[in-house]
Amino acid sequence: MSIRRLSEAMVNRIAAGEVIERPASVVKELLENSIDAGATRIEIVTAAGGVALVRVSDDGSGIARDDLALAVERHCTSKLADDLDDIRSLGFRGEALAAIGAAARLTIASRLHGAGEAFAIDLAGGRGETIRPAALAEGTRVEVRDLFFATPARLKFLKSERAEAAAITEVVKRLAMAHPAIRFSLNGSDRTPVELPAASGEDARLARVAAVIGADFRRNVLAIDAAREGVALQGFAGLPTYSRANSLAQFLFVNGRPVRDKLLLGTVRAAYSDLLKRDRHPVVALFITLDPGEVDVNVHPTKAEIRFRDPGLVRGLIIGALREAFQKSGPRSSTTAAAATVAAFRPPAGRPPPAWRPPPSRGSVALAPGFAAPAQAAFAVAPSADARPAAEAAPETFALPLGAALAQLHETYIVAETADGLVIVDQHAAHERLVYERLKTGLARHGVARQILLIPDIVELPADDVDRLAERAAELAELGLVLERFGPGAVAVRETPSLLGAIDAQALVRDLAEELAEWDKAASLRDKLDRIASTMACHGSVRAGRRLKPAEMDALLREMEATPNASECNHGRPTYISLRLADIERLFGRR
Ligand code: ADP
Ligand code: MG
Repeated sequence: MSIRRLSEAMVNRIAAGEVIERPASVVKELLENSIDAGATRIEIVTAAGGVALVRVSDDGSGIARDDLALAVERHCTSKLADDLDDIRSLGFRGEALAAIGAAARLTIASRLHGAGEAFAIDLAGGRGETIRPAALAEGTRVEVRDLFFATPARLKFLKSERAEAAAITEVVKRLAMAHPAIRFSLNGSDRTPVELPAASGEDARLARVAAVIGADFRRNVLAIDAAREGVALQGFAGLPTYSRANSLAQFLFVNGRPVRDKLLLGTVRAAYSDLLKRDRHPVVALFITLDPGEVDVNVHPTKAEIRFRDPGLVRGLIIGALREAFQKSGPRSSTTAAAATVAAFRPPAGRPPPAWRPPPSRGSVALAPGFAAPAQAAFAVAPSADARPAAEAAPETFALPLGAALAQLHETYIVAETADGLVIVDQHAAHERLVYERLKTGLARHGVARQILLIPDIVELPADDVDRLAERAAELAELGLVLERFGPGAVAVRETPSLLGAIDAQALVRDLAEELAEWDKAASLRDKLDRIASTMACHGSVRAGRRLKPAEMDALLREMEATPNASECNHGRPTYISLRLADIERLFGRR
């Protein structure tokens, strides 16, 4: 075939594929335009997940009659002068309207600020463009119907209506967070409405952030306000205890633009690394402001990725500011548990502390650097020899594989003495494993045993989460959790898995909802059993940070012995380690 120049319409359709990936991309582009136009009110209406209809109306500057035809042409923009290094608007590529017009039926009606009348332009699959008078009081109304009718291949890649509608909500929330002074409303037959009134005054930003993340975020945040070499960082960092099971609640903005940037997400993770367990994610809303010349926003067609001229500076600023905030907030963070453990191991008054003298040093024992200090600290804290209920343990217990429980350390580890050494059990990991195995056996037989709550627990959740939970209700019931829809924004929990004991059903359901948000629809919950089990175990009765009575410790050890695969938790981490006497002797250089 000889080489031909592609038609304008074809070029636009190809280009549209990059910019408009799904209905949520349409909403994002239209909102960006309204924000750039200085709107104070933006109304969004969708139908059928945005495929049938997306309509965005604003009270912004409007478009002049003679500019309407240009607005829908590719590479036509009012925003970019000559300097790609000085982009102060959300848009600048002049591609969005052309792309939307190439893939869908597009109508733009607009009234230039101060003009006497409004005009409209219609486009379908890139064709059309007659300009006609229209009825519109102010601003601009963009209507997009039958998305991808001109490029039907794309339709096959779309998710369910509900998932597309949810993605649109997500886009609206993210942009709204960065622009608290603008009132946003999102409506449609395919969704629960979202209303975000304009917020003003000192508290505006937090008010908007809390309206999006949840009212309880207010009580669980540290305010961040720092600057370094022309880069400013403001916003809110959730307390480590206010963590989530996924990273969807990390909202990051650069010059008012929502970004999901790997560098930034990794940096936030690093800032929390000492304070959070590996499978928990912090909740943050952080706004970075810097000179537009210091950041390249033209890296990606949808402008979701960015590059900083000096990434090290931004990284250092975020980590420094977050860590300082955690330190200042003092005992609200994780230091409380340590203090409680120290108290727990203090010998009872009136008894002399156990005699303990440093052993004569033996020059041949080389300690790794850094090893000496923690070891010293541990000894200073815990001459815990008298925390031994060992005398009560029956002699035959010592002969069992996991031995006789002697003590619990740091409310997390159980120390047991065996015939030839000692065993340290991570009670949380062990419990996770046990719950997992019990869930599996329960499922294999007749479903997991459930206990009925006397009063159903009502858990308020975003509508999307409610939908997801309701959709999975039958599967969850098999796993012992019986819940049902309770209005548009809540579920009622009626029964919980008995094997979890008395649990915080609220927290469990919230975490499960977050996990469902991340999972593929097709995957059955049985396939995700390990994740569910560990989520449930996290909320079950024996978790890290809980004091166990000697009988409870022994019971846990005996159950581990009776359970298959008990030596590893379901993430492959060990549930216990054992040290034989010989190993211990080697540690002390006796061998
Ligand atoms: P870009 O936003 O990159 O300039 P678009 O294709 O999204 O490209 O829009 C083209 C132009 O149409 C914009 O530069 C702007 O001048 C005009 N425009 C689009 N939407 C609006 C709106 N809601 N209000 C006012 N002007 C608009
Ligand atoms: Mg635009």
